[in-house]
Amino acid sequence: MIAAKGYAAQTAESPLAPWQFERRDIGAHDVQIEILYCGVCHTDIHLTRNEWFEGIFPMVPGHEIVGRISAVGAHARKFGIGDLGGVGVMVDSCRECQDCKNGQEQFCSVSPVQTYNNLGHDGLPVYGGYSNTIVVNEDFVHHISEKLDLAGVAPLLCAGITTYSPLKRWNVGKGHKLAVVGLGGLGHMGVKFGNALGAEVTVLSTSPGKEEAARKLGALHFIISKDEAQMKAAFKTFDFVLDTVSGNSDVNPYLSVLKTNGIYVNVGMPAKPWEVSSFSLAMGNKVIAGSGAGGLPETQEMLDFCAEHGIVSDIELIDIKDIHTAYDRMQRGDVRYRFVIDMKTL
Ligand code: NAP
Ligand code: ZN
Repeated sequence: MIAAKGYAAQTAESPLAPWQFERRDIGAHDVQIEILYCGVCHTDIHLTRNEWFEGIFPMVPGHEIVGRISAVGAHARKFGIGDLGGVGVMVDSCRECQDCKNGQEQFCSVSPVQTYNNLGHDGLPVYGGYSNTIVVNEDFVHHISEKLDLAGVAPLLCAGITTYSPLKRWNVGKGHKLAVVGLGGLGHMGVKFGNALGAEVTVLSTSPGKEEAARKLGALHFIISKDEAQMKAAFKTFDFVLDTVSGNSDVNPYLSVLKTNGIYVNVGMPAKPWEVSSFSLAMGNKVIAGSGAGGLPETQEMLDFCAEHGIVSDIELIDIKDIHTAYDRMQRGDVRYRFVIDMKTL
C-alpha cells in the first residue's frame, strides 16, 4: 500500500482534519498522481455533512483534481512520468454496460465508482483529492494542457464538465438567450461556456454584490432573483435556464422566465425536493431536464475546448487549513467563484 495524507471528515458532525491513510498499490493499468490542486465543490459539503444520505467515513472529499503523474503501472500507456493529469467525479466503471459504451461512464449501471464516498472494485473505500497523492486507473485520468493556469483548471473537472455537458446536449449557442441561476462554482462556468458557445447570457442571482463580476465573466444582464419587479420584467425571456442552485429554493419563479417551449436544465442538487406547480410547466410547454457531470470522452473534449479558448475557472486559492472558512462562505453564497486548495499547504 502507498502512504498518503489528506484532510478527512471522521463523521458527518466532525470538521475536516488532517488524516494519514493508505492508497492501493499501483496496478498494471493505474497511474499515481502527485496532487497539486483540488477544487472545492458544493457536493463536498453535501456529502461530508450527510445532507443527501449516510456517507462512508472517514471521508476525504475532493473530485476536482489536477496533478503530475509520479508513477505508471506496468501496462499503463496513456501517460509518462511528469505529465499533467486530471481526475473528476469518478475513478472506475464496468466499461461494458450501455452507459459505459455510450461514453456516459458516470451513469455506469454495473459498477460505478465515484472518486470518494464509494467503494472501489477491490471493495475498499476510495478517497478523494484533498490529499497529496491518488492512484487511479489511467482510463479515468484526463490529459491537461500545459498552456492553462493549473489551479484554475482543477474546477473544470467537475464544475466545468457539469455545465459544459448540458449546454452541448441542448445545442445552446448563437441566437439563444440563456439564464444561469446561481453564480457559484458551477454557475460561473455556465456563464463562461454559454458565452463561448455564442449565447446571450443573463445571471439570476440572490447576491447583488456579484453583478460587476458577472458582467466581467461574460454576462450581458444581471437580475436579482429576489426582486419581484426584476423577475416580472424577465417573464418569458429565455430559451434556456441553467439552474446551479445548491440550497433549497422555490423553482417556480425561475420557470416563469422561460419562453414558450423553453428548456429548464437543472444541475444543482439541493437536499430538499422541489415543489413544481403543474401550471408553471403546462403554460408554455416547458421541459425540465437534468444533467449529471459528464462522461470520459466529453470531459476530455471540454478540457480541449478550454485549452483552445483559454477558459479556466476564476478561483480563490486557499491553504487547506482554511477549508472550514471556505465551506462557511460557500454556505452563504460568498464564493468568487471557486475555492481551490493549494496542496503544497497540506
Ligand atoms: P456553490 O459554488 O456553493 O454555488 C451555489 C450558488 O447557488 C451560490 O453561490 C448562490 O449563488 C446560489 N444559491 C445557494 N443557495 C441558494 C438558495 N437557497 N436560493 C437561491 N440561490 C442559492 O455550489 P456549486 O459547487 O456550484 O454547486 C451547486 C450545486 O450543484 C450543488 O448542489 C452541488 O452539489 C451540485 N452539483 C451537481 C453536479 C451534477 O452532476 N449535476 C455536479 C457538481 C455539483 P448566488 O449568490 O448567485 O445566488
Ligand atoms: Zn462536484
